[in-house]
Amino acid sequence: MVTRMTHQREILLAEIKKRPQHVSADELFQMVRQQIPRVSLATVYRNLEFLADAGVIARLKVSGRQKRYDSEVHVHDHVFCVQCQKVENVVVRKSEDKEELEKDFPLPATVDGFVITGHRLEFIGLCPACQKKNQQQKGAVIMGCGCKSKPSGLSEDQKKVLQAMEKHGAPCASKDIAGATGLDAKVVSCKLTDLKKKGFVDSPERCRYGLTEEGRVAMKG
Ligand SMILES: [Zn+2]
Ligand SMILES: [Zn+2]
Repeated sequence: MVTRMTHQREILLAEIKKRPQHVSADELFQMVRQQIPRVSLATVYRNLEFLADAGVIARLKVSGRQKRYDSEVHVHDHVFCVQCQKVENVVVRKSEDKEELEKDFPLPATVDGFVITGHRLEFIGLCPACQKKNQQQKGAVIMGCGCKSKPSGLSEDQKKVLQAMEKHGAPCASKDIAGATGLDAKVVSCKLTDLKKKGFVDSPERCRYGLTEEGRVAMKG
């Protein structure tokens, strides 16, 4: 297939390949807006869909999560971190050969009338970084006297963003937060990215944000 690679698409593709954690359109938009000044989220999304249709990248859709894109188009499985939402590739299959594969994972011939042609594995768990973070937080609670411990390390702006989100109720758009806090929209999206990384904010749908249970705790801490 002839794929028309525009300059924008080339930049997007290069960014996706740099990041093995399967970015969403939203995240990719944040990453490339410096490089492609007038780009919009809609354009990023459209280009990603184009690349996915062309088979250059793969779509990764997991129950209840934002769609992500994968630079690896060959058969592979994924492991998800329930805390930071990171998605990584896992290689459990020793072979792409069907017979070899069946030795490792015997497949039923039919399931509810379907002829089974393959399967996909989704592992869920806590990534090493989140395990470490949780350990450190536990340590801070046990060792400290409990007063004014700041395991979350929230900045004033981050706190403002979280408070605005709580007031507004989830899921809210970043412009709602900008309106409520008086912060610049760019600053808000930057804070949201940081807060998402910390696991305090999640994005149940595209461009909509909500507080996580952890976020509520951190805000009060
Ligand atoms: Zn994690
Ligand atoms: Zn993948």
